[in-house]
Amino acid sequence: MASTAPASSAPGHFLGGVHPPAHKALAAAFPIQALPHPKQLVVPIQQHIGAPATPCVEARAALSAGQRIAEAKGFISAHVHAPLAGTAQKPANVTIASGRHLPAIPITVAADNPGGEQSFQATLGGHWDLGAIAGLEPSAIAPQVAEAGVAGMGGAAFPTHVKLSAQEKAPIDTVLVNGCECEPYLTADDRVMIEAPQAVLAGALIAARALAAGRVVIAIEQDKTRAMASLKEAIAQAGQALPGVSVEIIGLTPHYPMGGERQTIRAALGRIIPEGGLPSAVGTMVINVGSCTAVAAAVLRGLPMTHRVVTVTGRGIAQPANLWVPIGTPIEHLIAHCGGLTPQAQRVISGGPMMGFALGNLSAPVTKGTSGITVLTDADLGDAPRTACIRCGRCGEVCPMRLVPSRLALASRHENWDLARSHHILHCMECGCCSYVCPASIPLVQWIRVGKACLPRD
Ligand code: SF4
Ligand code: SF4
Repeated sequence: MASTAPASSAPGHFLGGVHPPAHKALAAAFPIQALPHPKQLVVPIQQHIGAPATPCVEARAALSAGQRIAEAKGFISAHVHAPLAGTAQKPANVTIASGRHLPAIPITVAADNPGGEQSFQATLGGHWDLGAIAGLEPSAIAPQVAEAGVAGMGGAAFPTHVKLSAQEKAPIDTVLVNGCECEPYLTADDRVMIEAPQAVLAGALIAARALAAGRVVIAIEQDKTRAMASLKEAIAQAGQALPGVSVEIIGLTPHYPMGGERQTIRAALGRIIPEGGLPSAVGTMVINVGSCTAVAAAVLRGLPMTHRVVTVTGRGIAQPANLWVPIGTPIEHLIAHCGGLTPQAQRVISGGPMMGFALGNLSAPVTKGTSGITVLTDADLGDAPRTACIRCGRCGEVCPMRLVPSRLALASRHENWDLARSHHILHCMECGCCSYVCPASIPLVQWIRVGKACLPRD
């Protein structure tokens, strides 16, 4: 039976939530390794929240690694770059992990791949010149990050330059680096903090410089002891790299969904975002650790966002790993590299089991928001039969957004949009806590996702 924690608003906690088994040990010890190049990439032109980018290369054009292949359209959008050298193919539609069909640019990867050889350590590891951050012009940072096409790597894939654009109406005093990675199984952020702590710190300080924030707080769940030690050492070595900006680490009690923006802000800073508001309403900018490294690479090394770390894990995969993956790589290529599926493999999920999407097609590409591939077995999935709702109220007790999931799912099933709206369906963060605890095995979050997608917009 699911383990749940009592709702609490005490410092270090948030309301609702659950405590699923972490299963992190399957992949946590494996250093990030470069994935051998696939022969073909399929790069969607919309991997971010906001307007799709517009292709800017012709079919059969020769591409160099890092070349822009699609232009951002408007402010809330992100450029897309070729991860590897190769030849652009005619745009085609691709189905991404969430099930959305999107235009994409297929790339046939050059056999010798000039300029495209990248390891994680060569890109993000090693020494970073943190002293240079004080000399950056704050207003020039967001455009540099936009140029690199950086989108949030924690899941939502919101274009990062938008968050880094200072707004007079909502001044930011704190940059909150989200290193919680509360989703079971996934270890990509953990490995990034262990292996590239200076890059994480550099990105956080650059964000503070852009927003004139005086404080950087790195929030990590307390069980990530190696990541904490690694970051502590990097902070100590950095000294006062950016004068006037303090840097601290806050260890949080592991609890799902600690990594949600609202939950991390509440637990780490004791600040409560008003209903319908953004983190900026409480003077906070939240950035994921992977996004920090992408910001650092963009600003201090001039590198576009073309790769990301992806955890491949679960008892249904032969050899779990943390991989440095070119964006657009088919997921089946990652699985093959990890020794393939085991005979017990039952479900392949993009992301983790709580917030991820079950894949119907393993040719879906890795995007900027793909944090992991989790392969579950029959034993993991259990066999509790689906029944009618028994009105136990557990789904509401664990909902961190204080919603009534059973009502929302019912409204979605019956396309009762007035009911869905009156119960604030758009406030659902799709954390999956409600489905996790439901004794009737009702796929609540799946119904709610359908409702959010189909809800007529005014
Ligand atoms: S209704 Fe949404 S926010 Fe609430 S528990 Fe379910 S998935 Fe999470
Ligand atoms: S947890 Fe499941 S059974 Fe209980 S009230 Fe919610 S939907 Fe109904």
